[in-house]
Amino acid sequence: MTSSPLRLRLDGAALIHNWKTLAVMSGAAACGAAVKADGYGLGAREVVRRLAQAGCRDFFVAHWSEARALADLGVQLSVLHGVRAEDMADRPEGVRPVLNTAEQVRRWRDADGGPCDVMVDTGMNRLGVSVEDVAAGLLDGLQIETLMSHLACADEDSAMNARQQARFAGLHGRTAARRMSLANSAGIALGADYRFDLTRPGLALYGGVARRELAGAIRQVVRLEAQVLQRRLVKAGESVGYNATFTATADTEVAILNIGYADGYLRCFSGKGRARFGEVALAVLGRVSMDLLAICADGAPALREGDWVELCYALPETAAVSGLSQYELLTGLGQRYARMWG
Ligand SMILES: *Cc1c(COP(=O)(O)O)cnc(C)c1O
Repeated sequence: MTSSPLRLRLDGAALIHNWKTLAVMSGAAACGAAVKADGYGLGAREVVRRLAQAGCRDFFVAHWSEARALADLGVQLSVLHGVRAEDMADRPEGVRPVLNTAEQVRRWRDADGGPCDVMVDTGMNRLGVSVEDVAAGLLDGLQIETLMSHLACADEDSAMNARQQARFAGLHGRTAARRMSLANSAGIALGADYRFDLTRPGLALYGGVARRELAGAIRQVVRLEAQVLQRRLVKAGESVGYNATFTATADTEVAILNIGYADGYLRCFSGKGRARFGEVALAVLGRVSMDLLAICADGAPALREGDWVELCYALPETAAVSGLSQYELLTGLGQRYARMWG
């Protein structure tokens, strides 16, 4: 197998460190892991395998196809999008749906589906049955493992957090649920009232810093590296790339890297992104192409064809530079990288 000219260096120790940090912050609550969207782009199988080994017991995906792809790992999976009629036939054993609607509840009850989770909407108005429906007995008789809700503004100091917390806490004892779960990564940092019995971090596991309280505690997991395809001298007055958006004011050494917007390195990094060769920072020049990127190599006289260059991708800083969210930075990475765990 030939090796890819671009790679993700994935820090397994940092992933475990982040989960253990969040587990400690979760206090007496168990700490699960959101591994939807292929483990936020890192590769769900490797993420699940590593976190399970570290002691994580509850994993969340969005789709049944994601659960099927992980079922052989023998971990407890919940499917956040619930269960459609067409999902009922082909369900891997032991995987629970997170029921979101009255229709899904009826479907599950009619099929005698067994243990399930349920999402209650406490104000986000995305997925979930209403608090009123729960009070009216919608969930009676269901074998609920985890009753959950989701915070809309946990990454902000919003009054909505306490409102959602209070609505959710009010459901305690109103259902037969064995556990209750509210907090995502940011929610864990909101304090003890938000922990309940189980937390569900995603972003912070992968190095995202969702709230200032997590800065310093969370380590970077993902590093992008691309190989140099060509090095060239661009003469003063010449331009680089599509639409000639960069023009050299002096003779400029330029390296062309094997990465582009098809790899999730989107056009918003045009003229803004940074790369690193050893200790030297190298600026992105001109437009990002689909599969290629130009960087200034003036500071790196030793950089040659075939060398590997790191693209700066620390999530909070890169989100600020690009205008993309930390979530988008991870989930957009695409399939052409060799994913190398160290
Ligand atoms: C994605 C998701 C999470 C994880 O959220 P992060 O902000 O990535 O920590 C938790 N719960 C639900 C319902 C989700 O959809």
